[in-house]
Amino acid sequence: MSAAPNSNRPAADHMAAVGAPTLGVLGGGQLGRMFVHAAQVHGFRVSVLEPDAASPAGGAAERHLRAAYGDEAALAELARHCLAVTTEFENVPAAALRRLAADCPVAPPAAAVEVCQHRALEKQCFAAAGVPCAPHALIASAAEAASAALAPLLPGILKTASLGYDGKGQLGVATLQDLPAAWAALGGVPCVLERRLPLARELSVIVARGRDGQTVHLPPQQNLHRDGILAVTQVPAPDIAAATAARAVAWAEGLAATLSYVGVLCVEFFLLQDGSLVANEMAPRPHNSGHYSIDACDVSQFDLQVRTLAGLPLVAPRQHSAAVMLNLLGDLWFDGESHTPRTPDWAAVLALAGARLHLYGKAEPRRGRKMGHLTVTAADAASARAVALQAAARLGLPAF
Ligand code: ADP
Ligand code: MG
Repeated sequence: MSAAPNSNRPAADHMAAVGAPTLGVLGGGQLGRMFVHAAQVHGFRVSVLEPDAASPAGGAAERHLRAAYGDEAALAELARHCLAVTTEFENVPAAALRRLAADCPVAPPAAAVEVCQHRALEKQCFAAAGVPCAPHALIASAAEAASAALAPLLPGILKTASLGYDGKGQLGVATLQDLPAAWAALGGVPCVLERRLPLARELSVIVARGRDGQTVHLPPQQNLHRDGILAVTQVPAPDIAAATAARAVAWAEGLAATLSYVGVLCVEFFLLQDGSLVANEMAPRPHNSGHYSIDACDVSQFDLQVRTLAGLPLVAPRQHSAAVMLNLLGDLWFDGESHTPRTPDWAAVLALAGARLHLYGKAEPRRGRKMGHLTVTAADAASARAVALQAAARLGLPAF
């Protein structure tokens, strides 16, 4: 059976070949769980490949293959019984996607995932697509970490080239003298040093691209991070000019085309204090900043993932409600310095009109761990924000 990488029709052929329509996903986290829910709404069964016995997606799917992402027998089994396979986290080995692609349609393509997995390759892709990003340099040796030529990038942020997320694998660097120690503290692995930019706002754009190149997008999201972790997303973006939003969408679509992308891609942007826009990073999957689309749009980012994967039609999602999303981190389970978790007062927020609670089914709350999110929808942005501020206050979260 050959894959059909450049057509929109894995459905018909592949379904005939494998019988029951099952979609596969590599990874068992919350993004996978919400993909599973969307796929099930569309009538698919889902198989999750995930080593963890108690994963959010594994618990929601019809089938959980409990094995390492690179396990040959598990990958062969997934390819055998799935119509098509996707991934829910970007650090899945590209080799696993390539292995699957030999036997069944895979989206996103391994090559695009590989670019998004490496900050230096990602920045090369920005350049190839004509999209500006922060001035930066790759540092792969102690000698490079000691180079005086890096002075124009300081003060800066040193980021491991791969495997970073939620602000992990990053250190602020003030001076040239601090750089060798910072590089060593990050493990002496290849890193990218970026100049620290004067941010005014952060935004992100989620696009979905089909096998035929057709591309649709969600409305740009305005994001607030705390300690490197997404805290609040507001859509429509209250402080982003229409021209800036349109530029971000055009650049995200251009990047998807440059990557010959199939699937859902999120591009994070910085709006600088001088009004200019630069790309930060890309995620080859649905994104935390797009969770609001489940409740506020007629087609969510997970519906788009299902559609691109199964070769179903793409239509531009329509946002029918203004939305504010609050991330619910494990910190909410702990009073002050306490080490004993207790359940937050969900009833207090569920009493607010327009609030919808999403919990990911993670057994153990930990500080900084994404446990769920709360989406507040309303007829207009001001009302959504007002209710979200009430919800934040009731949960003990800071105002935004
Ligand atoms: P992660 O992969 O952990 O999301 P990011 O590169 O997106 O890493 O960095 C996390 C956050 O750190 C960003 O959302 C932004 O708030 C801040 N940040 C990252 N790079 C820069 C930069 N060059 N200048 C200013 N702030 C930055
Ligand atoms: Mg980021």
